[in-house]
Amino acid sequence: MYNRKMIKLGKERSDIRELFEYGAKRKKIVGSENVFDFSIGNPGVPAPACVQEETERLLREMPSVALHGYSSAPGLPEVREAVANYIASGFGAEMSPELIYMTCGASASLTVILNAVLNEGDEVVVFAPFFPEYRVFVERAGGKLVVAPTDEVFHPDAEKLAGCIGKNTKAVLLNSPNNPSGAVYSAAEIEALAALLRKKSAERGEPILLLADEPYRELTYGAEVPYVMNFYEHSVVLYSFSKALSLAGERIGYIAVSPKCAGAEELFSAVCGAGRALGFVCAPVLFQRVVAKCLGKSSDVGEYQKSRDLLYNALKEYGYRCIPPEGAFYLFVQALEPEAKKFCERAKGHELLLVPSDSFGVNGYVRISYCVERSVIERSLPAFKALIEEYRK
Ligand code: PLP
Repeated sequence: MYNRKMIKLGKERSDIRELFEYGAKRKKIVGSENVFDFSIGNPGVPAPACVQEETERLLREMPSVALHGYSSAPGLPEVREAVANYIASGFGAEMSPELIYMTCGASASLTVILNAVLNEGDEVVVFAPFFPEYRVFVERAGGKLVVAPTDEVFHPDAEKLAGCIGKNTKAVLLNSPNNPSGAVYSAAEIEALAALLRKKSAERGEPILLLADEPYRELTYGAEVPYVMNFYEHSVVLYSFSKALSLAGERIGYIAVSPKCAGAEELFSAVCGAGRALGFVCAPVLFQRVVAKCLGKSSDVGEYQKSRDLLYNALKEYGYRCIPPEGAFYLFVQALEPEAKKFCERAKGHELLLVPSDSFGVNGYVRISYCVERSVIERSLPAFKALIEEYRK
């Protein structure tokens, strides 16, 4: 009677959500201080001061009709201009306000761009591991997800990628800093990727797009995040303020289409069309205004770094094999048995809630979201130690 695909999707909750719900129930039974919930990537460091200052100023000073009314579908002109200026001055990339589309966070940026560019049967290549919702978004837009293997520390490998690009490849979608591995792709890696895409685009007779999903851009521990538009002409940046500004609940981000993209204006029309068809028009207006005054800012990365160091060093000391995170706020750890799901079930016995890597397109790892309060990490360490000792027995 109703849409079968949607019923299925609604019923099969993601591993992450499933674990989050389990954690909420478990906390009621054993007390919240006894459950170590590392399931979800909800930023735990307060937003920078500019967010509160600007929100309060707007609420105080702006007439409510203007403040809470509609903007035009792609966003307020002054906000699109501020974003374009920021991209030009911050990254040295050519940009026009006419190619900026304000969205409800990265999820909307992704769905809109995928619906804007994919025709039935087109393929989108992603690097393993990847954010699991990519599969849902690509398939709903009529495309097929192709997973490219990466190297042993989950960085792109141009040769492996080359084998995944074929006549149906419409786009390569990358996410750096990466959820869940914490990898930050280097300039040399993006350069190699750009060279490969140029070659493959020429063979295909049509440009392959490079889509960069960047909700963690500012959250790095010293690594530079190259701006893809400076490396490859047919690039689109999908940005979200959810993570760096700790604004995940406010649903705000943008799509920036490089003016160097083939048919950039037409591509932007398709973005507007997809936004219209999906109902993603006029992103939250109060927060459009707020983020325009906080561009390039972030919550205190040093706090995430302290959590990363505490967890990474302790787990290494106990004998876990971990990928050192260069950015974002996730630690990717090798499971202590081949099947990550079984390992996660055993971890639950120690009240440790870890996400198995299967839905990220990689086997045998778990993701630990360390964006929780530091005291949760501190209290969880004996449980991690007990877990590895249990495997050694
Ligand atoms: N892309 C990646 C890689 C993510 O990790 C997330 C959220 O965790 C999203 C997109 C969705 O972000 P948003 O909350 O801005 O929709």
